[in-house]
Amino acid sequence: MEILFCVYAFIFGLCFGSFLNVVVLRGFSGESIVLPPSKCPHCKHKLAWYDNIPVLSFLILLGKCRYCKQKISIQYPIVELATGLLFLGLFYKFGLSLNFVFCAIAACLFVVMAVCDIKEKVIFEIHAYLLALLGLIYNFFNIPAETLAKVHFSLFGQMITINQSFIYSVLGLIAGVIIMEGLARIPKFFIGKRAFGEGDSYIAGALGAFFGLPNLIVILILSVLFQSLIVLPMYFYKLFKAKDFKLLSALILLFAMVILFKIGDYAGVFESTGFYFFSVVLLVLIGLYCCKRIFCSVKTENNPTYLPFGPALLLAAVVVMFV
Ligand SMILES: [Zn+2]
Repeated sequence: MEILFCVYAFIFGLCFGSFLNVVVLRGFSGESIVLPPSKCPHCKHKLAWYDNIPVLSFLILLGKCRYCKQKISIQYPIVELATGLLFLGLFYKFGLSLNFVFCAIAACLFVVMAVCDIKEKVIFEIHAYLLALLGLIYNFFNIPAETLAKVHFSLFGQMITINQSFIYSVLGLIAGVIIMEGLARIPKFFIGKRAFGEGDSYIAGALGAFFGLPNLIVILILSVLFQSLIVLPMYFYKLFKAKDFKLLSALILLFAMVILFKIGDYAGVFESTGFYFFSVVLLVLIGLYCCKRIFCSVKTENNPTYLPFGPALLLAAVVVMFV
């Protein structure tokens, strides 16, 4: 019986994913979400219901439009499958509950924002506002119920009691925006431009409102980790192609030293304080050298490799949602 319900949740998610594709597509074209029936973006032929079955239609048609044989974007089945899996996982975790409903809606917004960011490098503010509002309501009624603590205070002589989770939610919203804006603006002092766009501040604020301040910190740390896993190899490859071997070797040396340092620390090599101090100074010096060269290269570069940070934030949010 339980398995049957999980299958329903998965299929429900697939259908929602199909709808999210329409939301993304029409978000860019400005068309209404409900009114015009789906059509092929190439030949504009109206699509029949059997061309719109999530994932299956894509597989049966071998990823090509039935009418004009143009390729259908792989984005469609991926979004459907991702939404299906998210719904399945959330249903498995929460069962049919308010928690499931709120997290499923949030997951839909994650998917839409991630796709918009990857596809066009845009975050629509409305999606972030919706997520923030959802998060404030979710925590106002303490639906996550991670803590049952309440906060009492008096306002105009009235005793007011609110859930602690709501305080965390408001703090998370403020902190998300301030932290990301701060990080984005630091490079302005050095290279005269922001590190990333305002979209990431919107996402971080909205995630803060949904998950609360303590979880937001975890999400931020995780997202940096995810982003590094993708960006670092790309950056190394770029340096290699640009033949910037000075910076490349300095960076490799830095990483090797950090790893050695960690291993040494673990194995208890640093018994003498002098040796420990010497290692730290060496590490900092190489780090500073790398920073200097990176700043110089970014300053002279017209077209730096830009990778949106939003998807990493949203991926981290999904991980925190399930853990
Ligand atoms: Zn077509």
